[in-house]
Amino acid sequence: MLSENSELLTDRPASRSRTRRTKIIATLGPATNTVEAIEHLIGAGLNIARINMSHADPETTRQTVARIREASERRQKRVGILMDLQGPAIRTGDLPTSLNLKPGERIALTVRGEKSVEQRSVDVNYDQLVDDIRVGDTVAVDNGMIQLKVLEKHRNQLTCEVLTEGVLGSRRHINLPGVRVNLPALTEKDLTDVELGIELGVDFIAMSFCREAADVMRLKAILEYRKAPQRVIAKLEDQEGIRNLAGIIEAADGIMVARGDLGMECPFEELPIIQRRVVKQCITRGKPVIVATHMLESMIESPSPTRAEITDVSNAVYEQADAIMLSGETSVGRYPVKCVEIMDRIALRTERSGGANYADLARMDSLGAKMVKSAFVLAKEVSADALIVFTRKGSMARNAAWLRPMHSPIFAFTDNPSLLNQLTLHWGITPFLINFSADSAVNFDNAVKALRDRGLIRSGSKVVAVTEVDVGGRLIDTILLECIE
Ligand code: PEP
Repeated sequence: MLSENSELLTDRPASRSRTRRTKIIATLGPATNTVEAIEHLIGAGLNIARINMSHADPETTRQTVARIREASERRQKRVGILMDLQGPAIRTGDLPTSLNLKPGERIALTVRGEKSVEQRSVDVNYDQLVDDIRVGDTVAVDNGMIQLKVLEKHRNQLTCEVLTEGVLGSRRHINLPGVRVNLPALTEKDLTDVELGIELGVDFIAMSFCREAADVMRLKAILEYRKAPQRVIAKLEDQEGIRNLAGIIEAADGIMVARGDLGMECPFEELPIIQRRVVKQCITRGKPVIVATHMLESMIESPSPTRAEITDVSNAVYEQADAIMLSGETSVGRYPVKCVEIMDRIALRTERSGGANYADLARMDSLGAKMVKSAFVLAKEVSADALIVFTRKGSMARNAAWLRPMHSPIFAFTDNPSLLNQLTLHWGITPFLINFSADSAVNFDNAVKALRDRGLIRSGSKVVAVTEVDVGGRLIDTILLECIE
């Protein structure tokens, strides 16, 4: 008999045929801006490509989308496209030369074109900076690399003391921990980028610094007005977003725990607790959740991850987040393909070890959701090799993913091409496009054939499907169980 530890000590390779449940998102950039590079990422297991609009102009965005589509076509694998808006970011202005800052030195942050008499000064793009901040507050520059303390406030200038040494270059990102920044949720640039995203048919639009449900609703209203199918991902990046978590989860189509800015805006010891809370709430409410940033940060330069990074990725997978995300690792890093391979390997192994099962707390009220739950119970009971759902608007598929069936992969069949790409985000779902027949038996047979042709099921496989049957001219939802001949 195996002792409890022997499983852990067995160097058993992951089954090649096992479908990874956790999805992988990779940010594209200079390190991955060719069709071949994206093909390699897809080969390593990429599910969604992210375009960070803080670093992309319209022309490069068009080229990147075209490359993703070509690579996906060549590899014959569906890849979702996530456009991540810059949002209301505060930045320093241009500097003729970088400033070498040492602890104890002074630096002025100026607004509205003020010329400072301080020896060192830099302009900031946020005019209300002086009004919003108090003496004693901290200003974190360049992802917290440089910390400044506000000593004095003047009409158009803050005089600050340098707390941590660093080199300040041009256009660096600024965080004001705990300060309510009075900038619109969608800037002029964001609105232009949203139009571009609609035109290019991206699958997801992520809203940076989402502070309340109304922010999400504003973007959703624009998409609705334009009859655009894009799903809205709310990025949680500051304390206000966390305070309004429940409303934001309700309003958005998905959530990103954007740990880069969140870790700046909140006390760092709060970050793991916030991550767990957000993942748990999203899963119990049936909204997809992405854990992002610094997952394999050391691999920007190094060919292997740190032990802490491996554990961090594994924890997000264990908590059953829908997706884990790479940023600098794949956009500017030296080992982009290896990063995806490593995430794939950690995810597959962790998934075999179990999960946090927050979905057990899910309250599923709709009849459709209860139907899928019954199929889930049946699939678990018979250890089904496939859980098949047919879905036109996506809710059947999303309900199946919500339940986190560890025992059976979910195969979602739809006739809606834009839904197909959107399903790339959801935990455990492999999406397929089919032409729906009026005869549900034909749909079932076509689905089984598609899975068989790809080696995903074979003779003897047990399949559970949620489908419709015609009963005396009336279509009713039903659950099928079949052992494949
Ligand atoms: C983050 O801050 O973690 C994040 C994902 O946002 P961005 O990369 O746009 O700063």
